[in-house]
Amino acid sequence: MSSVPPAASADPTGPLRLPVTSPAAEREVVELCRDLLRFESVNRGDGAGHERPAAEYVAAKLAEVGIEPTLLESAPGRTSVIARVEGSDPSRAPLLIHSHLDVVPADASQWRVGPFSGEEVDGCLWGRGAVDMKDMVAMTLAVVRDIARSGRRPPRDLVVAFLADEEAGGVLGARWLVENHRDHFADCTEAIGEVGGFSYTVSDDLRLYLIETAEKGLAWMRLTATGRAGHGSMISDDNAVTALCEAVARLGRHEFPLILTPTVRVFLNELGEALGVEFDLDDLASTVSKLGPIARMIGATLRNTVNPTALLAGEKVNVIPGEASALVDGRYLPGQEEEFNRQLDEILGPDIRREWIVNDAAVETSFDCELVAAMAAALRAEDPIARPVPYMLSGGTDAKSFSRLGIRCFGFSPLLLPADLDFFGMFHGVDERVPVESLRFGVRVLDRFLQSC
Ligand SMILES: [Zn+2]
Repeated sequence: MSSVPPAASADPTGPLRLPVTSPAAEREVVELCRDLLRFESVNRGDGAGHERPAAEYVAAKLAEVGIEPTLLESAPGRTSVIARVEGSDPSRAPLLIHSHLDVVPADASQWRVGPFSGEEVDGCLWGRGAVDMKDMVAMTLAVVRDIARSGRRPPRDLVVAFLADEEAGGVLGARWLVENHRDHFADCTEAIGEVGGFSYTVSDDLRLYLIETAEKGLAWMRLTATGRAGHGSMISDDNAVTALCEAVARLGRHEFPLILTPTVRVFLNELGEALGVEFDLDDLASTVSKLGPIARMIGATLRNTVNPTALLAGEKVNVIPGEASALVDGRYLPGQEEEFNRQLDEILGPDIRREWIVNDAAVETSFDCELVAAMAAALRAEDPIARPVPYMLSGGTDAKSFSRLGIRCFGFSPLLLPADLDFFGMFHGVDERVPVESLRFGVRVLDRFLQSC
């Protein structure tokens, strides 16, 4: 299976003939992103959240150019915005472009600049959400505003969605909308969203652009052991803390078997070819470790993984508690859900109770379609050494919710990045920032893509 799209539809001269963004959109994207970074739309995962002011800002920017926004609120303050931009061919199914308005918390004492300052320093906009993902919110807004102002019509309807609560699994955002307001998306067949379309520079004449075509499934669980409560001074052969810790240690140290899904297989082939290395299937881990900053993420797409993340037990040194719990972050590969659960039970044994906190499906789609050809052409028109490759994200995005409607989802938020920027390290990291030039590049690529898809 080749990741190179069919030659005819990938002709980069196609989109070049179409009108593309005005310089105004490239200027505006920086302003929009800065404004968005200043909203403290922090999501702590406790159900509370503050997307409303950012959502109202986005809605006003759409309304200003005649695009009618719909605001939908799942709970007080948890606001999402949806709008439709009319295309020239009503017989074609709309494309969904989704991004999220919420961000994870940031500890200001660790940052070089205020995490909600939106300051421009060293050619970058700094702030929580700069790459995850107010960059794409701003790029989408800049492009659809430009389309509306200039009176251009994209070839198909565009549905733009700016969502709440992605950072807590989309329960009060994408998932809620899919369950309660599916009419807004029901006719969409394809979607683009986050964590894809960014560059990975291989050499002076080759830049890979990683387009997300798959996501691991999410299995957040609580494990509980029960035992006999009692005095800490006495013999105890039924101690819940001991039983839990043994099970958690077994699980945490377990290495799940290597499994290459179609996406990962194509990605490794492409990468091997680009780097001029043969991937040794018996020693993939060491080859992957040579990939630099992306190695930790790519390594996690080769197998199911589990990470114990919290222990909850007892409150006093001389009291044996009757119950002990642990939280575990599990992630399984597409097609591996049943086998993953079976292995969990085998490792944990019958005495540990396992409950899901969140369980959300793995998704995977193929790379051989017209939509990918349009992405490739748009990228090559702006970066002649671009080569798009499919990859699997170890984390999850709102694509999981939209996939439930049968929508084929891709991660495509285009950015040409400096070769030395640790892009994955920016996600939820300290000093998150996005180069201003990358935003401008993203606007140009997104515009070409939307004019030709
Ligand atoms: Zn995100």
